[in-house]
Amino acid sequence: MANIYLKTGKEESLKRFHPWVFSGAIARIDGQPEEGDVVDLYTARGEFIAKGHYQVGSIAVRVLSFHQADVIDYAHWVRLLGLARTLRERIGLLTPANNTFRLVHGEGDHLPGLIIDLYGRTAVMQAHSAGMHRCRMELARALHEVMSDVVDHIYYKSEATLPFKADLFPENGYLLGGSDHFVALENGLQFHIDWLKGQKTGFFIDQRDNRALTERYAAGRSVLNMFCYTGGFSVYALRGGATLVHSVDSSAKATTLTNRNVELNFGADSRHAAYAEDAFKFLDAMEHRYDLIVLDPPAFAKHRDAVHNALQGYRKLNAKAFDKIGAGGILFTFSCSQAISREQFRTAVFTAAALSKRRVRILHQLTQPADHPVNIYHPEGEYLKGLVLYVE
Ligand code: SAH
Repeated sequence: MANIYLKTGKEESLKRFHPWVFSGAIARIDGQPEEGDVVDLYTARGEFIAKGHYQVGSIAVRVLSFHQADVIDYAHWVRLLGLARTLRERIGLLTPANNTFRLVHGEGDHLPGLIIDLYGRTAVMQAHSAGMHRCRMELARALHEVMSDVVDHIYYKSEATLPFKADLFPENGYLLGGSDHFVALENGLQFHIDWLKGQKTGFFIDQRDNRALTERYAAGRSVLNMFCYTGGFSVYALRGGATLVHSVDSSAKATTLTNRNVELNFGADSRHAAYAEDAFKFLDAMEHRYDLIVLDPPAFAKHRDAVHNALQGYRKLNAKAFDKIGAGGILFTFSCSQAISREQFRTAVFTAAALSKRRVRILHQLTQPADHPVNIYHPEGEYLKGLVLYVE
């Protein structure tokens, strides 16, 4: 095993249990670790401080343990996956009415570089680091051991999430079983989830609680679900008693998925219509003054250098919604960009509100749900920010 020695003082963040080591913090490497190897980390004075997966790149090591005696093996994965399961059970996510949830949220579950989402009897596993990719078979076995009463199929989906320079050549495919049942339950609602071709692992589980809040506000209101993807907010709004729901996404595949999910739950429901159109064009042209608008755009800033443009994007988008929403309207507005802070997002929305000259009050400040836990030592793990606004 290779040993990595840090520059003087660069162990401070690790002492506070932050799980990343940046390449600039490294003084020297004893040995020649390959990408994905487990390495031991030492301070400049030679004291052991942590161990983790090594990778070439800005984040050079993702910490797996702060204990020298810990061995990163099959038993380690079983233990951590067991803890992940226990948490989801304790917060009431594994029930007859709900079999859609995130089982592993990377650093939030002490498994940096790994995401596992559950859709009924299928788990979708996604590696974001070379180390997790190399452990995928062991992880799949461990997952099956921990979840054998729940999971029959494990689909691995990492072609788009691993650094391509690492020459890992990941292939998407089943590591266990092979399911043709694509319907899963969230809060008693059915969703057709396409983990084979859909975005991310197939569904945006992180909006579950926020969708449920929309349901509470939907009764008697006309609703616009902008950036609908699989139509999650639309389906909840319909169950909540919305008088009309319009779903919009620039992708025709997304509107097809939305129509399918509406039909799955409500059959032919004349209250719903979906439009494959660009958000900005739709908002410019729209004449209906909706009572409730949801804005859940894709991450406008994927990197720090895109922050300025992203903030402008949020400002423009929200300004259009403020201009067009009906009096007494409710606006759910989100940012899922990790690079944008809660404060920055709020300022962008504040500026948009001021431009519209509407009177606006904050009713709720939203975030990601409990199955996307944030390790308190890794604040970067908090990425989803939302505001529910009352617009007079
Ligand atoms: N609200 C969804 C997730 C949204 S993901 C849910 O609860 O599941 C973001 C969506 O925005 C994607 O489906 C993408 O196709 C769509 N999108 C991206 N750019 C867009 C644009 N300019 N106009 C409309 N939709 C867009």
